[in-house]
Amino acid sequence: MATSKPAPKRPPKGAGRAATDATRRAKAPRLWTPAEIIELLDEAYGRAPQQPSHAPVFELVLTLLSQHTSDHNSGHAMHRLIERFPTWHAILAASPAAIEDAIRPGGLAPTKSKRLLALLEEVKQHAPDFDLEFLRDLPLEDAKRWLTSLPGVGPKTAACVLLFSLERPALPVDTHVERVAKRLGFVPPKMPADKAHAVLESMLEPEQVYAFHVDLIQHGRRTCYARKPRCGECVLETRCPKVGVK
Ligand code: SF4
Repeated sequence: MATSKPAPKRPPKGAGRAATDATRRAKAPRLWTPAEIIELLDEAYGRAPQQPSHAPVFELVLTLLSQHTSDHNSGHAMHRLIERFPTWHAILAASPAAIEDAIRPGGLAPTKSKRLLALLEEVKQHAPDFDLEFLRDLPLEDAKRWLTSLPGVGPKTAACVLLFSLERPALPVDTHVERVAKRLGFVPPKMPADKAHAVLESMLEPEQVYAFHVDLIQHGRRTCYARKPRCGECVLETRCPKVGVK
């Protein structure tokens, strides 16, 4: 009896694309893990130990003064400010012109002096003694929410205050951290920095946050430049997808 040959089965719809995606993934180099990056960059550049300032308001003011200028200039402005006005109350009692004059080395003095006074006034409303130690005990997200409710305080400033003064595991994403993290494939290239804070922070163990921040800044300043990164001399080159590097 003649038997008819069974018709060959058609592959399920989309199977070809799925197979291609799987092959592509298998071929893509494995990305570095945060732990590996920290180890390699620590070895390449060294890293100063974390030394919390225990002075959240100082950190808030310093971060405000550091906008759009170098660390050297903002440090100089901060030094003049606290030399002329030894307490936060003294700053609030001073004339805007005197504040502006004190912080002039940090640039944008007219704008920054207004922001500084508005910021300190708001802090005083919530904490009349300017003691922000309570941020140490709040859940991390609540502490961030409290800080970002202050005028002119965004996620980066809030994270700087929490990390550098109170040793809380909040990750500040500055221009270097953002650029290097995107090139290494940790966050999509078009993701805004504000969103990258949460994404990157969720990839890290709390004890990795400070090291990751400091190491990526050093790497951005010394090797992974915005223009013409030195990939040939980079310790991460073998498994860096170099997203966006031309
Ligand atoms: S290989 Fe190039 S793009 Fe990747 S981290 Fe190193 S310097 Fe940056």
